[in-house]
Amino acid sequence: MKAAFFDRDGTIIRDYPDEDWSHVQDPEFIDGSLETLSVLRKQGYHIIIITNQYLINEGYITFAQYKRINDKMLDNIREYGVNVADVFHCPHRRDEGCVCIKPNKGMVDQALKKYPKINLSESFIVGDSISDMELAVRCRMKGYWISPSARSNNPLITRVDHIKEIILLFE
Ligand SMILES: [Mg+2]
Ligand SMILES: [Zn+2]
Repeated sequence: MKAAFFDRDGTIIRDYPDEDWSHVQDPEFIDGSLETLSVLRKQGYHIIIITNQYLINEGYITFAQYKRINDKMLDNIREYGVNVADVFHCPHRRDEGCVCIKPNKGMVDQALKKYPKINLSESFIVGDSISDMELAVRCRMKGYWISPSARSNNPLITRVDHIKEIILLFE
């Protein structure tokens, strides 16, 4: 089985400065993210979201606040007709030394444990951060980096200006 691992904040929904997240009421989808998820799902990819939420243990938001935004996001994705297989989050502080904060492989390992049929060689990661791409490289997976100004010489990494560009690569 092939998986499309997606970062959440700044990739599927809008990201904010850490201190603003406690005021966020509703997830705001990034233009084109729902279409992209839909196209990949139709291509047979299982959508798995992996998200660093150090905001929780660093006290910016509560777990309940994280969950509320996440549940609303998943409701909206479902209403759009797309099934998300799973969401893994890392709640740990950046200085906590956990194995799951990206670019550590913990959340990919959790996904592999739960879905042993995932074949990483036909899977990939989409994200807006260097840590997402570092994780892709560590897992020897392809990475799609949504970052207009970034550069990468790594052959595993494809840089795109906008998430919608990924559709063109898969249709
Ligand atoms: Mg992000
Ligand atoms: Zn963690």
